Amino acid sequence: MQVFKHINDMQAWSQAQKKQGLTIGLVPTMGYLHAGHLSLVQAAREQCDRVIVSIFVNPTQFGAGEDFADYPRDIERDCELLQQAQADAVFAPDAREMYAQDFNTWVEVKGEITAKLCGASRPNHFKGVTTVVSKLFNICLPDRAFFGQKDVQQAMIIEKMARELNFPLSIVRVPIMREASGLAMSSRNVYLSSEQKEQALVLSQSLQKAAQLIAAGERDPAHIKGVIRDMIAQSPEAVIDYAEIYDAHGLSDVEVVQGSVLIALAVKFGTTRLIDNLIVEV
Ligand code: AMP
Repeated sequence: MQVFKHINDMQAWSQAQKKQGLTIGLVPTMGYLHAGHLSLVQAAREQCDRVIVSIFVNPTQFGAGEDFADYPRDIERDCELLQQAQADAVFAPDAREMYAQDFNTWVEVKGEITAKLCGASRPNHFKGVTTVVSKLFNICLPDRAFFGQKDVQQAMIIEKMARELNFPLSIVRVPIMREASGLAMSSRNVYLSSEQKEQALVLSQSLQKAAQLIAAGERDPAHIKGVIRDMIAQSPEAVIDYAEIYDAHGLSDVEVVQGSVLIALAVKFGTTRLIDNLIVEV
């Protein structure tokens, strides 16, 4: 497995693979890898000849007062895990390599898809994501890029960007990997105390409860959101950022639960903000 720190080296490697007629899968990450990330690597292994995993804690997607400086990092352990997972290349640039001092070119998806949910609580977050992902596409030249359903809004926005800017690649969504308890795996779970980790189970439990209500015929999103909020309120440390139900294609509002609906949660436990979601087909 090769580890690249420089854009030119990474791009030259990718070009050499493509000259040989090999397909490339890209798994963009911020590192501190867990089994959820590795499920993306596994999917890329199955679908592509060569797998690149990028590890970059992207400063432009963090707002002031967010956890950029404290975001967990362990590149050596990540590389060991990726070696075991049979990745072919790791792209781990530093921030100066990705952003020259006078960097000022941005890729931004507009509209309700970026304005709602995490876009409402984290202004400019998705502008940072779409900009860095565009750069990663141009540097790594993937045929397929793999994104987790865990960050469903991010996956939707990147699909839209890739389609509308005609990036010559396909986006593959990979299901959420959960711990046995139901807690969605996240690099940020290491911040949780054992008490908070226990309380955080309410995210997946309330999503399951919502799915049960819908399966039993409930179609009123306001009622379902009320049940979710009441459940989360039982956890003493939980502070809801959002608990919403939208159309799962473009995040438009729904008055009646029908078709493909997204139930999306963001909840803070102390300073740690967790997200989880479920798409229900009616
Ligand atoms: P991150 O390092 O948190 O930016 O995540 C990198 C990629 O891994 C994103 O596409 C995430 O959606 C995906 N991912 C993170 N956690 C999970 C999980 N529990 N299951 C599946 N994919 C995940």
